[in-house]
Amino acid sequence: MQSILDSNITYLKGVGPRKAELLKKELGINSFNDFLHYFPFRYVDKSKIFKVSDITSDNAYFQLVGRVTNLTKVGDKRAKYITATFTDDTGSIQLIWFRGIQWVLNRFIPGKKYVIFGKPSVFKNKFNFAHPEIEDYSDDTFQISGQRLEGIYSSTEKLKNTGLGTRGISTLMKELLKQCYNELIETIPDYILAKYNLISRKKALVNIHFPADTSFIDKARERLKFEELLLIQFQVLKQKNSVSHKIKGHIFGTVGDAFNTFYNTNLPFELTGAQKRVIKEIRSDMRTGYQMNRLLQGDVGSGKTLVALMCMLIAMDNGFQSCIMAPTEILSNQHFNSIRNMLKGMDVDVELLTGSTKKKKRTEIHRKLEEGSLHLLIGTHAVIEDTVKFQNLGFVVIDEQHRFGVAQRAKLWRKNTVPPHMLVMTATPIPRTLAMTVYGNLDISVIDELPPGRKPVSTSHLFESKRLRVLGFMKEQIKKGRQIYIVYPLIRESEKVDLKNLMDGYADMLHDFPMPEYQVSVVHGKMKAEDKDFEMQRFVEGKTDIMVSTTVIEVGVDVPNASVMIIENAERFGLSQLHQLRGRVGRGADQSYCILMSGYKLSNEGRKRLEIMVETTDGFKIAEADLKLRGPGDLQGTQQSGVLDLKIASLVHDTHLITQTRNLAEHILQKDPELKSADNVRLKRQLEEISKGKLNWGIIS
Ligand code: ADP
Ligand code: MG
Repeated sequence: MQSILDSNITYLKGVGPRKAELLKKELGINSFNDFLHYFPFRYVDKSKIFKVSDITSDNAYFQLVGRVTNLTKVGDKRAKYITATFTDDTGSIQLIWFRGIQWVLNRFIPGKKYVIFGKPSVFKNKFNFAHPEIEDYSDDTFQISGQRLEGIYSSTEKLKNTGLGTRGISTLMKELLKQCYNELIETIPDYILAKYNLISRKKALVNIHFPADTSFIDKARERLKFEELLLIQFQVLKQKNSVSHKIKGHIFGTVGDAFNTFYNTNLPFELTGAQKRVIKEIRSDMRTGYQMNRLLQGDVGSGKTLVALMCMLIAMDNGFQSCIMAPTEILSNQHFNSIRNMLKGMDVDVELLTGSTKKKKRTEIHRKLEEGSLHLLIGTHAVIEDTVKFQNLGFVVIDEQHRFGVAQRAKLWRKNTVPPHMLVMTATPIPRTLAMTVYGNLDISVIDELPPGRKPVSTSHLFESKRLRVLGFMKEQIKKGRQIYIVYPLIRESEKVDLKNLMDGYADMLHDFPMPEYQVSVVHGKMKAEDKDFEMQRFVEGKTDIMVSTTVIEVGVDVPNASVMIIENAERFGLSQLHQLRGRVGRGADQSYCILMSGYKLSNEGRKRLEIMVETTDGFKIAEADLKLRGPGDLQGTQQSGVLDLKIASLVHDTHLITQTRNLAEHILQKDPELKSADNVRLKRQLEEISKGKLNWGIIS
């Protein structure tokens, strides 16, 4: 059925082609329905009158009543701007206008009272209002108008210039609601509305834009968030069910010699409880006859690689080959070395395949893979090339999955007629409820426990003035036989600047504090891969004391003897990056240290990040804080997921609703998998609309 809500926004009274074009470009609004779902980001209570003395922050909107005096043009004959003094019985504040100067001059009558409204800004340590909204004041100003609670819509400079600031948008919205009122049909079954005490969709959409009172703002939000999340959960579950229950998988029914020998004789330590639990989860997945798709989240150093290895041994016990794909050569190398080490004395054939594997070796690997004599292949994306053919690939591990695209993962799927079980690992943990939604088609395992005996890395934030102390500390640590990382930020726009930054910073430091007695490795993005590896290797072998680098060491390097991580310009790094970097130390038995060096000039957010790092070493807490600071917009892996298109719910703040809707959707699908019952007809219809791509809710990938 064609609905007026599908109409192009051009046809809304008051819009027209030019504004429509802008709405499309600036806000992504194409249809009436898109516009209807463009919600205010906050509300102001215009029935409240503040005093000048109440203004203590430039973060809120204020409405004041007072008189306007001292209208003054500032600048030359063609005045640049105009100022005025606004006064009430508690004090004065400056008003300022840069446009419409003649209008302002004519607007005010000396001695009369006005109502002004706006958000103050700070100039020269004083608050002022630029371009405030103005109304004449009369005794009944606050009684006559019914609508005192106003939604504030975010807008852009271009939109404002065509009259579509928050007020303009609000006016159009009124028109839209008038036209569409009868088409705002209910999407949630009555039994759910009653059970969760939700208001109707019509009421919610009207009140989200034009709230009758503050209590309705919350009710409207709650209802719309619930709807948005519930529909997403249905989509996620539908996809999940079709992925994990329709695709046939290899059955790994036995645990045999390889696993048992490793467990009984090779394993150098006791598994943590979390490792045991996760291995169990994976094992039971691989026995079901369906293909496993599992995400393994675990903090840096939590022992994910070992879990992966033990599962690969199970694959081997069942006659299958396995493969690990890691994002860099250094990381692949490290996996290769540590795995080969752990498998010492066992009859397991392991090989490493990367871009720099020599032709002869490569040919040999290809041959052994096809014969089936090679059990375990470790490598970079070289492993997905078409020339790499397995005899019987049964288990695939993808390390640091966010570095690979969907297409690359799919290539591994197709390396066997029955696709291999997939385990994707990430050290950038995200809260579970969020993960369930973002990675809706994956099952999730979490290692939430570090191996015993790890001492938390002692972290401090220091300013440049403490440089001398830092150097003294470095010398002390090197004397004790420890190694040190110094990391400079990578400036992505320009590798040249990146290098200069590193070289200058490092040279400055050496100039001021020469340390000729120490051996230093230097690694940066401009170096050839083999030079990088050479320098890295010197550090790994303990031939150098200090590793100076840009963030190339970010992922995965394991040098247990390195116990100090110094991060220069730490305020320029993101939280998860800082956490990854800090994870490079604290891997041995010794107390480790992370020193965050920063300039004095810190943004609020920059300061917060450093505070969080000093406060906690828990990767999940850091991930959560990161989400709160940045929102999930930058979250790795969510970019194409569609979850970002959420109109009103927040993946960070609405975890309770996410869980609630998840449980509800599961429950409903269990009883009525096809949503065929009369009770669920509204849900079915709405989901069909969404899948037709008519509505703008993204489909989770
Ligand atoms: P991740 O990949 O999760 O960052 P790794 O698998 O590289 O972590 O493990 C980090 C270090 O901890 C490795 O040196 C590994 O041998 C060690 N390790 C793993 N599991 C345990 C355990 N249960 N007890 C002690 N050490 C462990
Ligand atoms: Mg790892």
